Amino acid sequence: MKVRHAYDVPTDIVREPGAKQVTIRRLIDTPDGADRFLMSLFELAPDGQTPPHYHDWEHEIFVISGSLHVDLPAEGKQIPLRQGDVVFIPRGEQHGLATGPGESARLLLVAPAERPPVRSVFLSEEPYEFDTAVAEDADR
Ligand code: ZN
Repeated sequence: MKVRHAYDVPTDIVREPGAKQVTIRRLIDTPDGADRFLMSLFELAPDGQTPPHYHDWEHEIFVISGSLHVDLPAEGKQIPLRQGDVVFIPRGEQHGLATGPGESARLLLVAPAERPPVRSVFLSEEPYEFDTAVAEDADR
C-alpha cells in the first residue's frame, strides 16, 4: 500500500497536441503497481485546455475546485462544470476540457490502465450495515 499527499506528487506539463496551460499529477500510476485504474489530478490555468481526443475506454472525472467546461466537438456542444460536478465520458466520445479567461480548475480523472477480466473476492460473510442517522450526524 502507498499513501502520499497529492501535492507531493510532481507536476508534469501536458504536452499532447492541443493542450494549453494544463498540468497533470500522476497520483496513482503503473510504476506504483496500478494495473487496472490510474488516478490523475489535472490543473487548468485560465484559457487552458486538455487535448481534444477520444479513445476506446471511458473517463471518470470529479471537479475538485474552480470552474471549466467539457467540450463535445462531435456535437459542437459545451457543458459548464463547477466544483463537485462529476462527468462520465463513455468510450469513443470525443472530448476535451477547457477553462475560459477568468477560470481555473482542478479535477480528478480516473482511467483504466488495462482491461483484463476483474473478479472480486470478499473476505467477510457478514451482511452490510448502514445507519442513515449515524451517517447524517457524521456529515455535520
Ligand atoms: Zn480522454
